[in-house]
Amino acid sequence: MPKSSKYDNICTFCGSQISYKDILIHGQVGAICENCIKVAQDMVKDMHAENEREELANVKINLLKPKEIKAKLDEYVIGQEEAKKVISVAVYNHYKRILYDAKDDVDIEKSNIILVGETGTGKTLMARTIAKMLDVPFCIADATVFTEAGYVGEDVESILTRLLQAADYDVARAERGIVFIDEIDKVARKGADNPSITRDVSGEGVQQSLLKLLEGSLVNVPPQGGRKHPEQKFTVVNTKNILFIGSGAFNSIDKIIGERMNTNVIGYNTKHKNVDKNNMMQYISAHDLKSFGLIPELCGRFPVITYMNALDAQALRRILVEPKNALVKQYERLFSLDGIALTFEDNALDYIVNKAVELNLGARGLRSIIEKIMTDAMYEFPSMKKKKMSITEDYARTQFEQSVFSDLS
Ligand code: ADP
Repeated sequence: MPKSSKYDNICTFCGSQISYKDILIHGQVGAICENCIKVAQDMVKDMHAENEREELANVKINLLKPKEIKAKLDEYVIGQEEAKKVISVAVYNHYKRILYDAKDDVDIEKSNIILVGETGTGKTLMARTIAKMLDVPFCIADATVFTEAGYVGEDVESILTRLLQAADYDVARAERGIVFIDEIDKVARKGADNPSITRDVSGEGVQQSLLKLLEGSLVNVPPQGGRKHPEQKFTVVNTKNILFIGSGAFNSIDKIIGERMNTNVIGYNTKHKNVDKNNMMQYISAHDLKSFGLIPELCGRFPVITYMNALDAQALRRILVEPKNALVKQYERLFSLDGIALTFEDNALDYIVNKAVELNLGARGLRSIIEKIMTDAMYEFPSMKKKKMSITEDYARTQFEQSVFSDLS
């Protein structure tokens, strides 16, 4: 190191003369003392924080109040009032935390959410609608495809690859996105007191690796995903402000809730007097998720838990016509693009709903049933002169039964 005999104990930054006991680091053009290094370190930290604040100030998130979020959700998601309310508050708090908390010392914890409910009750729809509403990147990952590092399958980091892709590789945008982890119940650990045992062997290991993402840490993400591109450079993604929504059916968890409530009733007789036995899901708590087989650390990372009701015929009927992009509206639009006025008679809609209930297909079944009913009309009408089409119950039945027979053949 170059040393000038005259200045070799002088700090170039503060000009102080340094005693032989203190550290002075020499560089190409000068020297810096221990004290100046400490000051510089603090300055760098402050400058980073300032940059982060400025960056956050530029973040454009369309933050609505909880009631406004719920009203938007109402446009797309039928029923599920409790879940919509809980999620609206959680999402509002989460984004408020991102936008304002940067300046504060009070550390508001993340509001990751677990949504419990049968398949086809609108869990994905809810998460997707929120992401769209806030205009933040959104991705869906299926927990069952993940394995512990070293096993065949995908690494959990690949979840963030999808989020990066959804954000067009804009890391800052991805860092404020929403990740939907489906089938999180399928990685419950073995041996918990859950009666339905349908889980991955490495369930607990996957839960452990998910923790790393949920904890709010810097994660090395392979931008191309997977292990097919070993040469790719990792992108570092900070998961601190990513909202995670876990979702699963948690089959038979109502029994676990029931047992817990029963046990409690002995001690707290009056407290649980008015338990609504027909809807035990409303009492779901982190305790039940633990009994089901989620590890306590993972439950701790999902402070908000809510449930989705099973959809009855009345809800299915509303789903057909009410949402902004309701199926009936979609078909009417498709036909109107060909100048054809399409209408569905009420009885025809009832027929579709009853079929979905009878075949136990839920909301997802509505689409396949209506598709079977409409295929012939969609094939014929564009070449016909007729400009009006009304779907009657008879027409719906004939078309559906015909298609079922053709499926069978
Ligand atoms: P899940 O994630 O709970 O399995 P989805 O959100 O994927 O269910 O729902 C499947 C489809 O069913 C959705 O795309 C939507 O068309 C319809 N659907 C389900 N639940 C609802 C609901 N509550 N309101 C409106 N549409 C619904």
